[in-house]
Amino acid sequence: MTSLLERDARVIAGVEKLRFFPLEVVEGRGSSLFDPAGRELLDLSATWTASGLGHGHPAIVAAMTEAARTAPGSGGLSAIHPDSVGLAEDLLALVPGSGERRVYLGHAGSDANDVVLRACRHFTGRRTVLAFEQSYHGGVGLAMAVSGQQVDAGHAADPDVAFLPYPNPLRPFTGDIDSTVAAVLEQARTRLAGGTIACLIVEPILSDGGLVVPPAGFLAALHALCREFEVPLICDEVKVGLGRTGALHAFSFDGIEPDIVTFGKALGGGLPLSAAVGPAAILDHPAGSALLTTAGNPICTAVGRAVLQTIVGEDLPARAGEAGTRFRAGLDRIAAGHGVDAGRSAERIGDVRGRGLTIGLELVGDRAGLTADPRLAQRVVYRAWQLGAVVYYVGGNVLEITPPLIITDDEIDRSVDILDRAISDAMAGKVSDEEVKPYAGW
Ligand code: PMP
Repeated sequence: MTSLLERDARVIAGVEKLRFFPLEVVEGRGSSLFDPAGRELLDLSATWTASGLGHGHPAIVAAMTEAARTAPGSGGLSAIHPDSVGLAEDLLALVPGSGERRVYLGHAGSDANDVVLRACRHFTGRRTVLAFEQSYHGGVGLAMAVSGQQVDAGHAADPDVAFLPYPNPLRPFTGDIDSTVAAVLEQARTRLAGGTIACLIVEPILSDGGLVVPPAGFLAALHALCREFEVPLICDEVKVGLGRTGALHAFSFDGIEPDIVTFGKALGGGLPLSAAVGPAAILDHPAGSALLTTAGNPICTAVGRAVLQTIVGEDLPARAGEAGTRFRAGLDRIAAGHGVDAGRSAERIGDVRGRGLTIGLELVGDRAGLTADPRLAQRVVYRAWQLGAVVYYVGGNVLEITPPLIITDDEIDRSVDILDRAISDAMAGKVSDEEVKPYAGW
């Protein structure tokens, strides 16, 4: 019989595939995925499966089932539905801000970002978007154009996008992080002072670019600059928002209230749902338009409301903070030389960092030199999959550990053990080049 893997290769378009190992899944439950043979895989990359609350969460199932039974086929575009309006009200209550504000409801992080970027151009009458190198804001349109790393490598650079370096505490480009931050802010000031910038878009943690947590105060300084030059700041919380960092909003670590905030992934609990919250003057602008037939549909918005209610009602940001501390402690033990191979793998762990359940583990050639080792990362994620965990790498060599917020202590301990063995096994050559090659692009 033809395997699922072979059938996928024949029918699913390559443009929508990003595969790190031959992962087949037929079911998800809690923090786990199950393959066709019934093998359990811990889902340590829930920001990829958009399952912040885990798989099959009862609150999501109940909201979706009820909405599917009763909801009209489509929502927000031409008719008014209580769950669309209700979700917008819920978001306005949860996102700090002042003045008259509106909510855009969409399908994916990509369209939420695309829409607000265009709206900022209309509102300011300026064209250039200021963004960050190695950032990721989406896979289509303007959201792709403003991404430092673009999924479509053949796409011509947009002349109306300017990029700033994102300050990386592990690799300051001026030698120390304080002067690196000062240099980035100086570049930002020069750009903003030029009078051509429509908006600035930033990830509160650079996620797909390598899980870089910016130094404290960086976002606040950036926001102050934007205020000075009256340029809207868009904070992209699509990946790390809604509790994952240990706070409801990742931007709150710097005490800012961004002008516009975008959400996606976890908001829909696996369903296509995104949102943007921002000033009415920008999101109501008469020149702007984003009409998508099924955006704001009552099934997705009912689920979005259930997701928010669960995150807030069960205080999951606090749980993410505690769970992250436990996970980090486990990884720190390996990095300190107490893993399965008596310290050999510690030599190849350059850094363990993050906030709450947003954790990055950087794999390097040697600890002192900190040279990125993407091949080791490719072997480690492959081995982890063989051992029972789904984890991906970002920025080439950084394991991105972002499990569901409901992960249990026992699951965290099992995950740490798997990662420990995966790193050790990958270093010991237990993953062959032949296995990894189809996914590594060598
Ligand atoms: N913004 C950020 C920060 C993201 O990480 C992503 C997806 N990785 C997006 C936007 C795009 O979201 P989507 O894939 O839902 O379009």
